[in-house]
Amino acid sequence: MQENQGPDKTFRDGLAKGQINLQQCNDCKKFIFFPRVLCPHCKGQSLTWHPASCGGIVHTTTTVRRKPERGGDYNVCMVELAEGVRMMSRVDEISPAEVTIGLPVTAFVGEIDGVPAVLCKPVEE
Ligand SMILES: [Zn+2]
Repeated sequence: MQENQGPDKTFRDGLAKGQINLQQCNDCKKFIFFPRVLCPHCKGQSLTWHPASCGGIVHTTTTVRRKPERGGDYNVCMVELAEGVRMMSRVDEISPAEVTIGLPVTAFVGEIDGVPAVLCKPVEE
């Protein structure tokens, strides 16, 4: 499949190895997500992959209703990482009602429907 080429594949290959990697522009130093071949801020073409710090906060959150026999309600959130990028995720380990905007979380690589994905858990107090 053609779409398996390029920076998006590099990101997914990282997830498959349990790593969350982010591109950083060597010109304006901003971090980038989704993976791209050009910096969306300054159009720079010199991008370098770095492991993410994995610290972040919940930017928005939505509860998705699901029958208890299918696993119960869960949340879908947009998490903002310390690098300043935002990505879709899900907060595990607490009920969807406890996921609030501004909640400090740690990102990690988990699975959604058998596919490696970025998940989050609350930062231990
Ligand atoms: Zn740039």
